[in-house]
Amino acid sequence: KIHAIWLRNDFRIQDNPAVWNAYNQAEGDDGELLFFFHLHPDFLSSITQSNDYFFQTLQTFREYLKENNIRLQFLHGDPEKAFKKLLDVKGLASVSYAKDYTPFAKKRDELVTEMLRKKEIDVHACRGNYIHEPFEITKKDGTPYKVYTPYSKQWMQQDKNEIIKLEIEELAALSPQKAYLDKEAVAYFDEQVLPKCKRNWKRLGEEEAQKRMKHFLSGRVDHYDDMRDTPSKAGTSRLSPYLRTGAISARQIEQAIARKQSQTKGAETYIKELAWRDFYAMILHHFPETETKEFQEKFRSLDWNKDEDLLQAWKDGKTGFPIVDAGMRQLNAIGWMHNRLRMITASFLTKDFQIDWREGEAYFREKLIDHDPGSNIGGWQWAGSVGTDAVPYFRVFNPTTQSKRFDKEGEYIKKYVPELKDVPKKYIHEPHTMPESVQKEAGCIIGEDYPDPIVDHSEMRKRAIALYEEAKGD
Ligand code: FAD
Repeated sequence: KIHAIWLRNDFRIQDNPAVWNAYNQAEGDDGELLFFFHLHPDFLSSITQSNDYFFQTLQTFREYLKENNIRLQFLHGDPEKAFKKLLDVKGLASVSYAKDYTPFAKKRDELVTEMLRKKEIDVHACRGNYIHEPFEITKKDGTPYKVYTPYSKQWMQQDKNEIIKLEIEELAALSPQKAYLDKEAVAYFDEQVLPKCKRNWKRLGEEEAQKRMKHFLSGRVDHYDDMRDTPSKAGTSRLSPYLRTGAISARQIEQAIARKQSQTKGAETYIKELAWRDFYAMILHHFPETETKEFQEKFRSLDWNKDEDLLQAWKDGKTGFPIVDAGMRQLNAIGWMHNRLRMITASFLTKDFQIDWREGEAYFREKLIDHDPGSNIGGWQWAGSVGTDAVPYFRVFNPTTQSKRFDKEGEYIKKYVPELKDVPKKYIHEPHTMPESVQKEAGCIIGEDYPDPIVDHSEMRKRAIALYEEAKGD
């Protein structure tokens, strides 16, 4: 009998419930394992920076399996057609996969499950990459939470799952090197997808994720609460791209922290961030309409600004607000942006430009190597004051104040906006206030080398508040 493992965004062996489940099935009936990945056309139309990272992580995992004599196979095309090839595999007894709660995945999984069950193939939808699955933490009456704090209290109290340990050799013993599936799909991945993934990412995959986690937990986590808001310092774990590709599981991180001898405030704060990740996945699961619509219905009629030039300036990091520009350039350069900067840039787009949060969300989706639908939508709706626990619309971030507070010395700005590297500290947050002589000395002429502020913040703040009030009907 053959037991298939459908890998999706869980490129790891350790603590992988789908792999573990299929392994147990195969062990139980002397069966064989079949690892496969489905190349969905929706993800292949253009190889974004985000997909580039994803597919290269997939390839890293494939190579790791290969080194251990396990072949990763492929399906390609619309699910209805692609999965017929799986149904053709003689002896196919079960398919295991890790649950994914995005509207896209749920729809696809429903369809495929129906196809498989019709042919009497067992389908095992296993735990996803969360500490608590979206349906595990609910209010007493069984309805979902809509606010983070009470959710997180229950999240903290609930028992946590132990991680699953499995040796790759045990899997290899059950994985004959047979090409069960579509050879064309393999060729498609090798010839059409991989060659387009050209970015030189470093430290991909499961082993690197483990190293990074251990490094972070060996010291930095204890200072997380003090350091996490300083973008010029490596104060956060940078584990998000590994979580997104499933090179590490959230449980592995949580359990490693729980096993630490000293439980510091830093570690406590860090765990709460992992709870935010579960919270936003839960919100998207229970309120799938928030994928495209504001959680707060009263703001669904907001009359957003459609200025393409402003949007482009924001994307390019050319707004004349150094902290905003540095954030956007970090995103464009490395596919990751510090959380503080995600808040600042998202607030800037929605409040200072009054541009639709969906525009920003889509841009982040394309660029972020840690793109996670729940967290991205949640983060954008938070910053745009239209989400669950959103920042109130009248509390508009002042980019200059944020800059002075979180990048006091301008180190982060100078790293990502090189034209400002010789600007004196005094002017780094507002370079347009530099006298001409200082501009010359710093080799940065405002209006030529670096733009004047593209908007007047205090004016835009008033406009934003009026816009929200109009939508709300006050
Ligand atoms: P750490 O500070 O080390 O946190 C550890 C982990 O906790 C993170 O890896 C992440 O999984 C989780 N986490 C931390 N903060 C949050 C948060 N606010 N919401 C949800 N989970 C959190 N995170 C994503 O993983 N993918 C996204 O697409 C994403 N888009 C965002 C968009 C906006 C507008 C905002 C404001 C935030 C977004 N976040 C997103 C949340 C957060 O910015 C990142 O998770 C964090 O910066 C990742 O870096 P890290 O691993 O060093 O985080």
